[in-house]
Amino acid sequence: MLNIVLFGPPGSGKGTQAAKLVDKYNLVHLSTGDIFRANIKGETELGKLAKSYLDQGQLVPDEVTIHILQSEADKHTGVNGFIFDGFPRTIQQAEALDAYLAARNTSVSMMLSLEVEEEELKKRLLLRGKDSGRADDQNPEVIQNRINVYHRDTAPAKAYYTQQNKYKAVNGVGAIDDIFDLLCAEIDAGASK
Ligand code: ADP
Repeated sequence: MLNIVLFGPPGSGKGTQAAKLVDKYNLVHLSTGDIFRANIKGETELGKLAKSYLDQGQLVPDEVTIHILQSEADKHTGVNGFIFDGFPRTIQQAEALDAYLAARNTSVSMMLSLEVEEEELKKRLLLRGKDSGRADDQNPEVIQNRINVYHRDTAPAKAYYTQQNKYKAVNGVGAIDDIFDLLCAEIDAGASK
């Protein structure tokens, strides 16, 4: 299986690139952000819980996120692989993902990280907020909070995958297709090892 963790701060382009990678490599796309938003829209119990965290730009608690990710992944058997988009976002989630995939006799192939500097992220998120309707993209304080949470809680996952020799960083600024080519080059180089 090809199991890609797509990593990077909010607004770095994970969702855009994930959609393209899913097509090219025939993978299943699992986005925890999308799962939470669908549940908020559907007014499920999970949605009610998640909403308070998303609205403030805080992470949904690990045990909730890990559980929901696993139950979504369980729906897909006999697949080529997964793209994990927005997960793991903490070390605890990274450890849980390793354990989950090990139980499925597979593992994370690599973490691909999109690198984008903070001013560019803020610009992109505010622009997205104008037409996406995402409340968390419309409030500069919530955006700053998400970036801070990324640095504090999520960035340490880089070291986790670096130790496993699985961390690959790509420049996330430029044309969408050029960034896509860089990601594909990393995947193809990894797959040929
Ligand atoms: P972005 O990367 O632009 O912030 P996402 O759609 O990935 O957007 O995430 C939106 C929100 O969903 C996050 O700010 C957080 O509240 C919640 N969320 C998404 N993934 C996770 C996760 N792995 N752990 C905890 N909370 C998460």
